[in-house]
Amino acid sequence: MNDVTHIAPRDKAEILAQALPYIRRFHGKTMVIKYGGNAMTDPELQADFAEDVVLLKLVEWVLAGEVQQDIVGFIHKAGGQAVGLTGRDGGMIRAKKLKMVDAKDPSKEHDVGQVGDIVEINPGVVRALLEDNFIPVVSPIGFGDENESYNINADVVASKLAEVLRAEKLVLLTNTPGVLDKSGQLLTDLTARQIDDLFADGTISGGMLPKISGALDAAKAGVNAVHIIDGRVPHAMLLEILTDQAYGTMIRSH
Ligand code: ADP
Ligand code: MG
Repeated sequence: MNDVTHIAPRDKAEILAQALPYIRRFHGKTMVIKYGGNAMTDPELQADFAEDVVLLKLVEWVLAGEVQQDIVGFIHKAGGQAVGLTGRDGGMIRAKKLKMVDAKDPSKEHDVGQVGDIVEINPGVVRALLEDNFIPVVSPIGFGDENESYNINADVVASKLAEVLRAEKLVLLTNTPGVLDKSGQLLTDLTARQIDDLFADGTISGGMLPKISGALDAAKAGVNAVHIIDGRVPHAMLLEILTDQAYGTMIRSH
């Protein structure tokens, strides 16, 4: 934990009072968090993140990300119990080979290797773990018809998991303050329509594309709050979940 002894008792009380309604609201609700890739380069940030997860274990967590065993270890160190699994376990993620059609010649397809798309998610094993108070940490790997393995984009997996688990919240941690407009300003709130425009004019590109489409799908499927926030800020997630302050970009379905 970071040192909180320097905070005046009055301020501490204020912080706790502010957090209480959120603690009550989220009690027993499911949260899906995508953590990995660019947001988790620094081990100190990873440790902070794991502390937040354990501290907030009043809700049911599902974590999806690429660097599973690190997170499992950090959560154990912070006093929680995590179980690392891939989408192969418990028959969770059925996948198929991703088809990449050539942008210039649609009759041509590029071979993208063992990269896949989700066919279906069966969240049974995740539910069973949550029921016994374990924190599932899912690596985004699915299985095909011939039992072959596919790597799937972790944002897509987190979004789809949030959908099928009917999660209260989906948080995608990344390495930018959120979604930025053409001049680099943070867009705090995005609707489906605005997202279409940002896609069309090329404001959203690269790794932000699957993040935003997944986030929008989850919002449309009824996930209450979908946030893209900056994982490089220590305890970003704790602040996002337990304070009035909104960080990053919130995605709304309409
Ligand atoms: P992660 O590992 O968190 O998934 P990615 O590199 O896949 O990270 O996706 C985040 C990246 O998307 C940002 O670092 C940025 O380079 C890129 N990006 C593209 N368009 C935008 C945008 N409009 N706003 C913010 N980031 C964007
Ligand atoms: Mg990415």
